[in-house]
Amino acid sequence: MDRKVFWQKHYRCGLCGADFRSLRIFDHAIRVKQRDLFLHATYEFPDPQHYAIIACPDCYYSAYDKDFEALPDKLNSQQIFQLQQALKKGKDTFHLNLSKERALQEVIDLYSLAVLTYLIAEDSYKMAQLYMKLGWFYLDDQNRENAAIAFSKSYQQFFETYERGRIPGEADGILFCLASIQILLNNVSEGFRWLERLNQEYKNSNSPYLTAGKALWASFREKKT
Ligand SMILES: [Zn+2]
Repeated sequence: MDRKVFWQKHYRCGLCGADFRSLRIFDHAIRVKQRDLFLHATYEFPDPQHYAIIACPDCYYSAYDKDFEALPDKLNSQQIFQLQQALKKGKDTFHLNLSKERALQEVIDLYSLAVLTYLIAEDSYKMAQLYMKLGWFYLDDQNRENAAIAFSKSYQQFFETYERGRIPGEADGILFCLASIQILLNNVSEGFRWLERLNQEYKNSNSPYLTAGKALWASFREKKT
């Protein structure tokens, strides 16, 4: 059974050169249980989000699967040094197990380590996405305080990404995230301002985020002050 769900992918650490294998999930084994109004998905076991971040078991350098091997080549020597220093501290703080049944705390640690990578790589869009996931993981962990901090940081990074206009093809998704986070943080009026902008900019499009934005609007209209 397990063999059909997981497979082992070989990686060479882009930072320290270590060879290792990491668990991947077959696409056919991914089952969405439900998707809420914020488009946040919950999954049947295994949750692919728990395996999205690849971490080197030796140096703890962590990144998304697609970036893992190539990203360090794009960093300059000062950034590499910063990352190495940050990971030294990370190794004292986090203790990764990287087994099949990933505990929520380990998933939180993995995403926190990946934040270090994308912070140093100055990739605000990926940081925004990581912090958003961290917000949901903290909510799963009943830690509302840390969830609020993570969502706020996600908002800052999405805002920066949007302002810079660097991801033009994904601006509708970014507007939807900006709105969602403000609503999650109970700033419903501010969230609605982003929904209005989404509606203005994409009113004649078939953006799925426009449809999702309308559903959010309908659901939270009464909470708007
Ligand atoms: Zn490494």
